[in-house]
Amino acid sequence: MFDSFGYPGTQSSVFQCFAADCRYIKDLSRFWFCMPTLSIDAERLRDRFDTFNEIGATEDGGVNRPSLSAANKTARDTLVDWFRNAGLTVEVDEMGNIFGRRTGRDPDADAVLFGSHIDSQYNGGRYDGVVGVLGGLEVIETLNDRGIETDRPLEVVAWSNEEGVRFQPDMLGSGVYTGVFDLDYAYDREDKTGATFGEELDRIGYSGERPCEADDLHCYFELHVEQGPFLEDAGLSVGVVEGVFGFSWLDVTFEGQANHAGPTPMDMRHDAFVAVADVTRAVRGITATGGTDLVGTVGSVDVWPNAINVIPERVEFTIDFRSSDTDAIEAAVDRIRDEIEWAAKREGVDYTIEEIMRIEADPFDEGCIETVEAAATDAGCEYTRLVSGAGHDATYLNAIVPTSMIFVPSVDGISHRESEYTEWEDVALGTDVLYRTVKKAASKTS
Ligand SMILES: [Zn+2]
Repeated sequence: MFDSFGYPGTQSSVFQCFAADCRYIKDLSRFWFCMPTLSIDAERLRDRFDTFNEIGATEDGGVNRPSLSAANKTARDTLVDWFRNAGLTVEVDEMGNIFGRRTGRDPDADAVLFGSHIDSQYNGGRYDGVVGVLGGLEVIETLNDRGIETDRPLEVVAWSNEEGVRFQPDMLGSGVYTGVFDLDYAYDREDKTGATFGEELDRIGYSGERPCEADDLHCYFELHVEQGPFLEDAGLSVGVVEGVFGFSWLDVTFEGQANHAGPTPMDMRHDAFVAVADVTRAVRGITATGGTDLVGTVGSVDVWPNAINVIPERVEFTIDFRSSDTDAIEAAVDRIRDEIEWAAKREGVDYTIEEIMRIEADPFDEGCIETVEAAATDAGCEYTRLVSGAGHDATYLNAIVPTSMIFVPSVDGISHRESEYTEWEDVALGTDVLYRTVKKAASKTS
């Protein structure tokens, strides 16, 4: 049962929110927040969500539906059935991306595209990707229920191989669609057993006819779980995503001298690992002063000879800096280069630095961001703008068409694990915001 506010309950009283174990019970000042009336049918969405996640379900409450696996095929078949039942015209493109189209009052107008992905990590969570695709379908069902015809055509999409666990790189389907990768490059990607993406796509029957390229698009929206702790910590149900963090990856090597850990006096050592320790501490210091959302990580460290009684001769390690501010990344890289030089001098070791990857921070389209904000306001929810620390299909779409995203909170910031969880009220509210966003974007007069 859902009360008039769209939340579980038995009668239309705000006090039901308490009885229903509403999360806002903890903070009375947020009480009004329970009030929004949902346009979408949260119960239908939940039924679908639960049914869908029986496919490839794991014992510990997650799902195992890696790209082009048997479970992924069943999930695709189910989605295609549901798309057709909702009156959508289904097309599969050469990369196995699935599109469900609903025509508009002006069938030739550029379409509003929205969706996400249905492949999962090995033993991944139930929400990652699925929320955006089934949320997209719920948008269509709600428009159908209300007999609303939009000016522009709508397309719901499920992108292939977003996770990148079976076939690397990730976001392969949207990558080919937006021209980042060639189709042949994508088809040749191999999994651990040597099976290629192209062969596996054929095998499961999802090598479609439609050319894998963007055509006549007006804008793109993606609803997704945040996969970080920000919204939950802020006590908010919805995040309006302004863009995606940029990053710089450095490969650094220190070359010192191996020697016996016993007889070598401390002042005669050239210990490559001591230099790494200094630099690791410096990364932490730089992030403390380098901008509000700058983060830095020394994530991979290889030590030679890696023996208990030998002074480390060589260490290869990585540094990852990320921020929404390209200048902050640039400044952090400059500062860490100096720190590496000083650490090498102090320890009397040689060093090399190679920047192996630099991706600029990628702001989304201001018009699309404002559309999502207006939708969130209409939905009656308190929201914040935020920048995604992780990449999404939306990152590639943003390069070719105006784009924004809607985030809903991840409990404890956990994702890519079976314990991934989002409160159902938040999934419902995020989907409601998606519905209002799509409706606005599909109007040619707005
Ligand atoms: Zn995802």
